[in-house]
Amino acid sequence: MDIFEPPAITSSQQSLLEGHLRGVLEANKVHNLTRIDTWEDGLLLHVEDSLVGLPEIQDAPVGRYADLGTGGGFPGVPVAIMTGRETLLVDSVQKKMAAVQEIVDSLGLSASVSTYGGRIEDLAKEMPQAFAVISARALSALPSLLELAVPLLQEGGRLVCYKSQLPDNELEHARALEDKLAMRLVSERHVLLSDGVTERCIVVFKRCGEPRVKLPRRVGSAQKNPYRA
Ligand code: SAH
Repeated sequence: MDIFEPPAITSSQQSLLEGHLRGVLEANKVHNLTRIDTWEDGLLLHVEDSLVGLPEIQDAPVGRYADLGTGGGFPGVPVAIMTGRETLLVDSVQKKMAAVQEIVDSLGLSASVSTYGGRIEDLAKEMPQAFAVISARALSALPSLLELAVPLLQEGGRLVCYKSQLPDNELEHARALEDKLAMRLVSERHVLLSDGVTERCIVVFKRCGEPRVKLPRRVGSAQKNPYRA
């Protein structure tokens, strides 16, 4: 297992990363954005953790980035700060997205970062194949993530999944759906965060061709009733 290697962070990026976390912890007193509610835990489990997948996100084709099920903006906002990619943060809970949009505005990031308060499945109809790279943390198991992401991805676009545990059967199940969903496994990397105990796994798939099924399915189906191979 690799140990987390922090990327080079400029002082302005550092203050934006901290400003986002501060805003989320503040907003959390009113809205339930995250169960992590101390500065120390936030620095590790939100900010550092969000940066773990940066190499994989930077490796994706140039173009728009979306973070699906972003909650308080993790990993989407830290990734946007570090990459400068045009970013869309997506969450079905509109109150969360309004609070995150306010934080983004207050940090002066609104030229490149915007929010979508709605379902991933509905976004897929509005912006088909609009993204070069997509991330998701703590959203769903891999089979559901592949199904939710593929209609949004351009050909060759990457899905970067942040997983805390990766049971063998979850990866096997996802791989068995590669042909049906037109998504292929690219890489799998296990990382230990700087506390020396928290494990993180980054799994990347890319879109190759056209799915064999019509997507998106009805809202909720991908998560409640994922495809079996
Ligand atoms: N990525 C964040 C939040 C994870 S919680 C983090 O790691 O801290 C999962 C989030 O996904 C919730 O905020 C929930 O509202 C959102 N979500 C779940 N299913 C969704 C869907 N189909 N469309 C949009 N958002 C969804």
